[in-house]
Amino acid sequence: MSLHGQYDSDNIFAKIMRGEMPCVKVYEDDNILSFMDVFPQSEGHTLVVPKAPSRNLLETNAKDIGRLFGSVQRIAKAVETALKPDGIVITQFNGAPAGQTVFHTHVHIIPRYEGRALGAHGGGGAMAEMEVLKSLAEKISAAL
Ligand code: AMP
Repeated sequence: MSLHGQYDSDNIFAKIMRGEMPCVKVYEDDNILSFMDVFPQSEGHTLVVPKAPSRNLLETNAKDIGRLFGSVQRIAKAVETALKPDGIVITQFNGAPAGQTVFHTHVHIIPRYEGRALGAHGGGGAMAEMEVLKSLAEKISAAL
């Protein structure tokens, strides 16, 4: 998938937002949905997705970007409170050559813990246990 093109409303995050696919939800409001990454690169890897359809940040309107990053900061602070990581990486990929695998704009919140290696990006690692993700999501939600 190149950087620009037609938005595909059958992408996996669009299906999650329509309730056609499950997710382990952290937070939802009128503008964003946040849920646990099922192939976490570290414990507590959380995604923040604007509800308005766009393929990537370059195609997202500035107002939605403002709201999105306000939510990213709020959820990152909750991740910090809930999980006490030593650092937090925020990533966002635009276009397949950049590493994007799901073509609906989203931001990754990836907690880092000293001495623990980062897992592979883009589903390269192991799928997480749902019960583990639910417990992490509950802790993060409670800290919001
Ligand atoms: P990107 O490569 O930046 O497009 O990120 C897509 C992310 O979505 C990857 O980190 C995947 O592990 C994650 N992912 C793919 N499918 C799902 C799903 N059904 N639920 C939660 N996360 C997913």
